[in-house]
Amino acid sequence: MPEYILSIDQGTTSSRAMIFDRAGTVVATGQKEHAQILPRAGWVEHDPAEIWQNMQEVIGLALTRAHLTRHDIAAVGITNQRETAVVWDRTTGRPVYNAIVWQDTRTQGIVDRLARDGGGDRFKAVVGLPLATYFSGTKISWILENVDGAREKADAGDLMFGTTDCWVLWNLTGGVEGGVHATDVTNASRTLFMDLETLEWRDDILEAFGVPRSMMPEIKSSSEVYGRAENSSLLRETPIAGILGDQQAATFGQVAFRAGESKNTYGTGCFLIFNTGEEIVQSRNGLLTTVGYKLGDAPAHYALEGSIAVTGSLIQWLRDQLGIIETAPQVEELARAVDDNGGVYIVPAFSGLFAPYWRSDARGAIVGLTRYANRNHIARAALEAVAFQTRDVLDAVNADAGVDLTELKVDGGMVANDALMQFQADLLGVPVVRPVVAETTALGAAYAAGLAVGFWSGLDDLSSNWQEDRRWEPRMDVAERDRQLRLWRKAVTKSMDWVDEDVR
Ligand code: ADP
Repeated sequence: MPEYILSIDQGTTSSRAMIFDRAGTVVATGQKEHAQILPRAGWVEHDPAEIWQNMQEVIGLALTRAHLTRHDIAAVGITNQRETAVVWDRTTGRPVYNAIVWQDTRTQGIVDRLARDGGGDRFKAVVGLPLATYFSGTKISWILENVDGAREKADAGDLMFGTTDCWVLWNLTGGVEGGVHATDVTNASRTLFMDLETLEWRDDILEAFGVPRSMMPEIKSSSEVYGRAENSSLLRETPIAGILGDQQAATFGQVAFRAGESKNTYGTGCFLIFNTGEEIVQSRNGLLTTVGYKLGDAPAHYALEGSIAVTGSLIQWLRDQLGIIETAPQVEELARAVDDNGGVYIVPAFSGLFAPYWRSDARGAIVGLTRYANRNHIARAALEAVAFQTRDVLDAVNADAGVDLTELKVDGGMVANDALMQFQADLLGVPVVRPVVAETTALGAAYAAGLAVGFWSGLDDLSSNWQEDRRWEPRMDVAERDRQLRLWRKAVTKSMDWVDEDVR
């Protein structure tokens, strides 16, 4: 039997291929960035053809670096940026428009129009999500309403929609020559169109959005053989056997398989996922309800998700806009140069506040400034803002779940920051734990694929791969923590009610 699994990570900034062995260790990686196309303020696009081209290159890179061929690969798993929408012509295989990325806010008008009839939560009980530009459904509507000829082609059954997992799967399995048009339940659960109970598309919602059902991919589990690679000579005949959206993949890679387990990923934004087992929990506290994973014919596992828009990107802002650091890790040196935040709080509501507040009328605020404050305090306040926002989401999770989390598993680029992780443990009052394999997203997709082909025997086999790298214990006393939280919450209120009709 082949000894490796290849994982494809189609991310927001780059596409990567990673090869894992049976112990879940990374053997080799290939990575390539793609262009961020920004035609106007608030618009973010990717070129799907570039993504597919890069994907083939990075697969080649990873195999070459590992000195392996397709005969060594037992299966391929796919993980992806989640809500990014691609619409293409099923006969030519060509996209009718660039991919509209999850961060893109051009569909606010469509959201407002749909909300007029029944409010922003009109589909929430069925799909687990509020109406928002974030999700892929509104992006499909935009393409059909704004791209010349798209509506006619869609009505004639000539167009296909997919998130980028689906785009890569269709191309890998043959494209116009019989490619498999499918996605998994986790990606489907981010469209606004999937019924969380039946795991099927809802015709009434598709109709409300004006999207023909013939465009939609088949919804499959996260772990089964969807097809075999045809279009890639490097992977020919290798089964494609796992698909998970990136945050769900990271949760799976953290082996948070059971109800009550969770993880928080610290990247550009932060995404906390809390596994609720086979139960669909509707949030009363500003979280999304989503599918965690589904293995073959077994019942789906659901999750609550707290999405925070700005965390790592706040550090990028200090670097690129304020210029007070040259590299992201330098923020820690500045933060450590002072004993505390000097009374300064930053609320990074650059495009409103996501979970648990969901306030599009909020804008960023730096409060508590005095003549004493310097750039070190600002750097410290920026790091603290990441931890405060996570605490807010965790409070929502605890309230929705009715139990308190006892530790938090973490991953993502920012967990290299020791000061942040310590402050996070202090603010939560529970330990924060980092695993040895930091590449949990790619690992999760590899796990899903490996399970489907018997490469790993079951969840217990995977759990034994997880190893702790480092643990931060809470050290702050309770009175100080409460004082900090009180000031943070006051700062949050100062960011709200900012956007009026004439604020640009
Ligand atoms: P993504 O997957 O969202 O692209 P990553 O998980 O690669 O993000 O994390 C990158 C983010 O983490 C960037 O926004 C960067 O500013 C931030 N970052 C990276 N290293 C550090 C660090 N040592 N301290 C603080 N932030 C960091």
